[in-house]
Amino acid sequence: MPTLNWYEGIASNWSPGERGAQERLDSFIQKGIENYKVGRDFPALNSVSRQSPHLHYGEISPRQILHCIAKATQGMQIEANVAHFQKELAWREFSYSLLYYFPFITHRNLNQKFDHFPWVENEALLRLWQGGKTGFPIIDAGMRELWHTGYMHNRVRMIVASFLVKNLCIPWQLGAKWFWDCLLDADLANNSASWQWVAGSGADAAPYFRIFNPVIQSQKFDPDGNYIRSYVPELSSCPSKLIHDPGSASPTEIRKHGIILGNDYPLPIVDLKETRAAALTAYKNMKETILAA
Ligand SMILES: Cc1cc2nc3c(=O)[nH]c(=O)nc-3n(C[C@H](O)[C@H](O)[C@H](O)COP(=O)(O)OP(=O)(O)OC[C@H]3O[C@@H](n4cnc5c(N)ncnc54)[C@H](O)[C@@H]3O)c2cc1C
Repeated sequence: MPTLNWYEGIASNWSPGERGAQERLDSFIQKGIENYKVGRDFPALNSVSRQSPHLHYGEISPRQILHCIAKATQGMQIEANVAHFQKELAWREFSYSLLYYFPFITHRNLNQKFDHFPWVENEALLRLWQGGKTGFPIIDAGMRELWHTGYMHNRVRMIVASFLVKNLCIPWQLGAKWFWDCLLDADLANNSASWQWVAGSGADAAPYFRIFNPVIQSQKFDPDGNYIRSYVPELSSCPSKLIHDPGSASPTEIRKHGIILGNDYPLPIVDLKETRAAALTAYKNMKETILAA
């Protein structure tokens, strides 16, 4: 192992191998599955299986997971949770099927209309996003979770990806590349299909005009700010009502909690309303260009 201990966060969060996969699955069956349908959207809860790296490396198979869950949950009357979990595993199969039939989805838009979208390769903004220094706490928490543990919760993956491709208008391929470099579960099929899903260019994708507001998402899915506090310690003294959007608080108010914005924690790197409007205009122009062609 290298002398620089960069892997500590990864080593303390994961147990590679078949045994590690099975132990994590057992723990999910005991503590997570019964609240999966609702809990899976809350990054501070322990409601997801964290099977993705194990699946990727073939340390466990989807059939094994389905079999263990079916056996362990018999008679528990949690069918809706089990069914929802099965659906998520099916997304994985769907991504593999997409990659098989459309191998170019790793780098080219599945929906080629998006080839006309005016993406901007802004290196400075990309770096702030990568480093978790955007001034939007839920995004920064996610990007730092990724860097520190090699994993990011699914809800947060969607929020950070939407921010990159819609508020910053940076090509989804650059986001996918960063995930590819950092994720322990980095998987060509799931990563490519999911990035294209968020960008709007994929199969059955989220429509481009549905742009996640990271502040509202944070208030909804991390209401007490516990997830944010885990990965953005400089905001740990921030009360829940301010933690989702410290940039909108008055400097005096936020200073009361020992935080100087722009010094201890970054100011927002973009205006959400303005960038949302710009993205929607770019999308409209793209459609008009295609119609005119
Ligand atoms: C931008 C973006 C990039 C992503 N990149 C990857 C990636 O490189 N590798 C990867 O495995 N997943 C990726 N995903 C999908 C999803 O976020 C992860 O599979 C999930 O968070 C893994 O955590 P888990 O095992 O606790 O999930 P659970 O919620 O416990 O789900 C169980 C399993 O179902 C599958 N699954 C769940 N959601 C999805 C999904 N949306 N698409 C495909 N399969 C899914 C995974 O195999 C997962 O392990 C990405 C999602 C987004 C939005």
